[in-house]
Amino acid sequence: MSLVVQKFGGTSVADGEKILSAARKAVRAHQNGHQVIMVVSAMGKNTDMLVQMASEISEAPPAREMDMLLSTGEQVSVALMAMAIDSLGYQAVSLTGSQIGIKTDSSHTKARIQHISTERILSLLDQGNIVIAAGFQGIDENLNITTLGRGGSDTTAVALAAVLQAEACEIYTDVDGVYTTDPRILPEARLIATVNYDEMLELASLGAGVMHSRSIEFGKKFNVAIRVRSSLSDAFGSLIIDQAQTRELPVSGAALTPDEARISIRDVPDVPGTIYQLFLRLAEAKVTVDMIVQNVSDDGTADISFTVPRDEAEETFQALAPVVQALGGRMGKTDPDVSKVSVVGMGMATQVGVANRMFRALANANVSMQMITTSEIKISALVRRDQALSALRTVHAEFGLDTGATDTTSFSYEPTPQTQIDAADVIDRLQKTGMESLVIDDIVLDDTQARVTLTGVPNEPGIAAAVFDRVATNGIFVDMIVQSYADDRNADISFTVPAEQFDASLDVATKIQQEFECDGLNYKSQIAKLTVSGIGLRSHTGVAVEMFKALNEANINVDMINTSEVRVNVVVDGVQGQAGLKCLREQFASAMR
Ligand code: ASP
Ligand code: MG
Repeated sequence: MSLVVQKFGGTSVADGEKILSAARKAVRAHQNGHQVIMVVSAMGKNTDMLVQMASEISEAPPAREMDMLLSTGEQVSVALMAMAIDSLGYQAVSLTGSQIGIKTDSSHTKARIQHISTERILSLLDQGNIVIAAGFQGIDENLNITTLGRGGSDTTAVALAAVLQAEACEIYTDVDGVYTTDPRILPEARLIATVNYDEMLELASLGAGVMHSRSIEFGKKFNVAIRVRSSLSDAFGSLIIDQAQTRELPVSGAALTPDEARISIRDVPDVPGTIYQLFLRLAEAKVTVDMIVQNVSDDGTADISFTVPRDEAEETFQALAPVVQALGGRMGKTDPDVSKVSVVGMGMATQVGVANRMFRALANANVSMQMITTSEIKISALVRRDQALSALRTVHAEFGLDTGATDTTSFSYEPTPQTQIDAADVIDRLQKTGMESLVIDDIVLDDTQARVTLTGVPNEPGIAAAVFDRVATNGIFVDMIVQSYADDRNADISFTVPAEQFDASLDVATKIQQEFECDGLNYKSQIAKLTVSGIGLRSHTGVAVEMFKALNEANINVDMINTSEVRVNVVVDGVQGQAGLKCLREQFASAMR
């Protein structure tokens, strides 16, 4: 008999009528021959209300007591849901996190799941019950109630689907599914029929608020097909799966991160320890660093810029200033009025000419880009906040996301028996080591590329587009692109290309340098790109720091960096590739899957 998990978010259980309507969905699945587990969130804005009540009593309520309080929201909903099912004439049993046996660590208000017992749920299902599980909560080894962090019911649902090897995990919510961009920002956004885990992780981290990021990490780790759909209709919704995109579009979604600030560090020594010391300090200060860009220096000093959430700009500046001073550098001007526009898509990993299309479209819309970073499946550009909305609309249209076919009726997902067996094996091992612990899939060295850097590029709209149009026209496949903001007038643009296209790239760059009157050109004919890939790289913020630490100890200098949800890439000198690979493998030995 097949088993399905149905999760209902707060808005889908906001009142008695909605609870009954959710109950009817579960009953229907039960009638269709499925065993059904419902995971429910607190009703409506209940959790917010509880948070508010706590804040009226104390400015800093103890985290343990916060969890005791917040977990009550879900306890109310599971009980009411069980009553609703009972009133429809079916058997139901509600369970709290501790009754199920969802074991977590003890980090209250942001606990991570370590283990889930399945016996009780399975025997209740076998007795013909619909099992109703409280989302968002667990219990630590001392029987303290814990919660998984706001929005954590998604994670409960996917985790249960994983350990029970459910056929489907359905997330019922108040939107129709995953959109090409936030429809509240751009009404022309369209529903996406299928989206890959990595794409969804990137989109979620960019603020596509549909799903708790950690639930997608779970889905990816355990190969759970997740369907996001509306609780108000029977529409198909969006399916989040492992499958590569079948659509021809290179880009699946676009996103705007409106409130960013750019922090700049100037003239720090371009030696191995610098980047490590800076990022160690940032990690200690718990700042969420986003786009990171380092200029390739020609005079032995480096400039580093990165973005942080706007409201963390001041504390970031304060935290870094002493370190930067001790290193002999200086803090550049912070710009608090910038936004990040990103496009995400599996398609771009294999197609030429995606980046330049984005840059060209922005140039035509007269938007100037202050910083650019790319990863395998994401391109982000930093723009002035007052140009952000038009920038988003421009790239969304450029990649056909406003008109793309979104056939949501014909797609069905059949997991192959093979993946189920693999998943069982992975689950078994992870149950032993902690379900949500950091998992590094792979550490790889790519020493087949070269780097070209243009320095002192006039910072006007259209330059990056011109450069990468030219590069694409010459059939050159660009991998990483980094554009940093040097000062108000100048930018540096670095990109990596296959070594066999190095000569051709250098020719193109030389012409561009003359034509656009750039200050300089530098290059390395052989670079090494070191990639740590895995799951949870973002929620386990220390990964980049650990990498810098290991590289520093091995005395290896970092030339370029880029980060995404599932990868951290660094570029070092080609001759140091093997040594870099070795030290990273040692550093992450215990986290390797
Ligand atoms: N009720 C919790 C919250 O609002 C968990 C959830 O809804 O996912 O954060
Ligand atoms: Mg939610």
